[in-house]
Amino acid sequence: MARKDIRTISIFCAKCKTLLYKYRKGGRGGLVKCVVDRIAEDRTRGDMQCPKCGQAFARFVMYGGQAAHKIIQGKVFTKGMSRR
Ligand SMILES: [Zn+2]
Repeated sequence: MARKDIRTISIFCAKCKTLLYKYRKGGRGGLVKCVVDRIAEDRTRGDMQCPKCGQAFARFVMYGGQAAHKIIQGKVFTKGMSRR
């Protein structure tokens, strides 16, 4: 499972810039959801809210049989999307 197009990105709260997740993202395009199994590091309390300012940034969904956090657009920003 060593896919070349997976890279680790950092996901931050758009409001207070707190790091929320480090996430192993596959494929191209924007971040729509985080599959729970691919969250490399979780800095939240697991409630899909920013631990600092309390803003909800995602909703829990089942996606093709996998648990995922669907990102609410505009609530987060990411770093590390582009390849080196
Ligand atoms: Zn926040």
